[in-house]
Amino acid sequence: MQTLCVVVPAFNESSGLRAFHARLAGVFDMLDLACSVLYVDDGSRDDTWQTMEALRVGDARVATLKLSRNFGKELALTAGLDHADADAVVVIDADLQDPPELIAQFVAAWREGYDVVYGTRSARAGESRVKKFTSAAFYRVMEKLSATPVPRDTGDFRLMSRRALQALKTVRERQRFMKGLFAWVGFRQKAIVYERDPRFAGSSKFNYWRLWNFALEGITSFSTAPLRLATYVGLLTAFAAFVFSVFVFGKAMLYGDPVRGYPTLLLVMLCLGGVQLMALGTIGEYLGRLYMEAKQRPLYLVEELHRAPGARERQ
Ligand code: UDP
Ligand code: MG
Repeated sequence: MQTLCVVVPAFNESSGLRAFHARLAGVFDMLDLACSVLYVDDGSRDDTWQTMEALRVGDARVATLKLSRNFGKELALTAGLDHADADAVVVIDADLQDPPELIAQFVAAWREGYDVVYGTRSARAGESRVKKFTSAAFYRVMEKLSATPVPRDTGDFRLMSRRALQALKTVRERQRFMKGLFAWVGFRQKAIVYERDPRFAGSSKFNYWRLWNFALEGITSFSTAPLRLATYVGLLTAFAAFVFSVFVFGKAMLYGDPVRGYPTLLLVMLCLGGVQLMALGTIGEYLGRLYMEAKQRPLYLVEELHRAPGARERQ
């Protein structure tokens, strides 16, 4: 029998985890696959881990993985995928924003021969206007800047075939923008449109500051366009400076040169200073990431891993 493993990263999700597992188990019962779920506790501070362990005791299809601290969703996901070994792997959030019932459709598309089947959101209930707008803007900027097309309005909710997962496992970069990496592996990909529900319980772990940094991560790890932009802004400034200097020189020749021009001097100085700092900052963003990459630290550390007894026997 073919195997399916569902990877669920969770950070402080104890309030909704049982409801999530109940719905997921319902989906498992419908599929004619040997299903298992791997819950990854991303260093939760509530009793998420205890809940996971209780679920594992009650259901032989549950495996649990505990990271040594909070590493962030991208790394929790990576840890889960590294420990998943199945013919098809599904990634899903623990907050029931992505309906587990959709997995049946993912599996159907996978059986048609698709390697990556991802959910694209048509509606996002329970999210503010600002979040919808910023998220739309981000996907469109990514589309312009990145050579790897990242599908619009698509989260991490998806199914991957064994070979797509194998390909993804070879990517060991530390600055991980998973949505981009999922797209980067290529193979045959298919989108399935669905409506995103509001969170079942608990609250979102991503505030605007975290989302902004996440967006920066996405752009810098998939595009060097900002570095090039710095070059062009520099060229443009140099050109403007040249034109202006011709004008100043000409004026001085025609009308003499009384001591004036304090405002222009200040303006030029401040403008140039600003542009230089901006360019330096852009270089810094990339240099910082290069530094983190060069340290070659492990991506995450595992504190505890419990495999699912049921899933093994069936293989
Ligand atoms: N998550 C995680 N580590 C973190 C933050 C979030 O594993 O540091 C998990 C979280 O438990 C959830 C998923 O990632 O299962 C998506 O998080 P959330 O719902 O807060 O994000 P949103 O849907 O608001 O973008
Ligand atoms: Mg969510």
